[in-house]
Amino acid sequence: MRYLIISDLHSNWEALEAVLDAANGRYERIVCCGDLVGYGPDPNRVVDWARSHLDAVIRGNHDRGCCGLEDLEWFNPVARAATIWTMGKLRQDNIEYLRKLPAGPLRVDGFHLIHGSPLDEDEYLITATDARNIFDYLEEGVSFFGHTHLQGGFAYADGYFQVLPPLDPFRGEIDYRLDPGATCLINPGSTGQPRDGDPRAAFAIFDSDTLEVSQRRVTYDYEATRHKIEAAGLPDVLGARLLVGR
Ligand code: ZN
Repeated sequence: MRYLIISDLHSNWEALEAVLDAANGRYERIVCCGDLVGYGPDPNRVVDWARSHLDAVIRGNHDRGCCGLEDLEWFNPVARAATIWTMGKLRQDNIEYLRKLPAGPLRVDGFHLIHGSPLDEDEYLITATDARNIFDYLEEGVSFFGHTHLQGGFAYADGYFQVLPPLDPFRGEIDYRLDPGATCLINPGSTGQPRDGDPRAAFAIFDSDTLEVSQRRVTYDYEATRHKIEAAGLPDVLGARLLVGR
């Protein structure tokens, strides 16, 4: 089965649409590693889409925050302002949907979905050391995670730990065939708010039979989303950062 793997959509409709266009015809199911909402200007549109299109999804920390399950003291001022704005905009039925999202890790067709780490939804796995420290807690096989908004991955097999090479900023796609004996931790990147210096929306395609992973990027209308963010009265920095992918 071929899966479209997405994460950290953050209410960015234009980025999501571009990803769906770019991935069209290459997958049968869609799964998400959390953070449907927060930061962006289209929370209801993105959650409405998620409710009718996602085959599996776990909650992220912003999903928890935007449906009242999180103490916002832990959020930085910009994230808190965007969360309060989002809570005011979300329809009640979408708030209820977010409240019922499961926490990861969630098993799907032999692989797992995680938001932060297998131990803590809010933990950031950024460096090789971060990842190496939690490999003992991962289920064998393939896990996908998000939260860092950094596309990439790590693998461990036969005593060797490997950092998967990142996607070159001048290319739109990088392909791996994962070792069936390895434990792999793959981040598809953020669709709605990339932070690795590449503003293009990120996603991955995963074939659960062949273990092929394709990590991809696609441009979208960054300015349109930025204008919506400013018109909505969300912090301007949330629009500006989309243009640079930081
Ligand atoms: Zn996020």
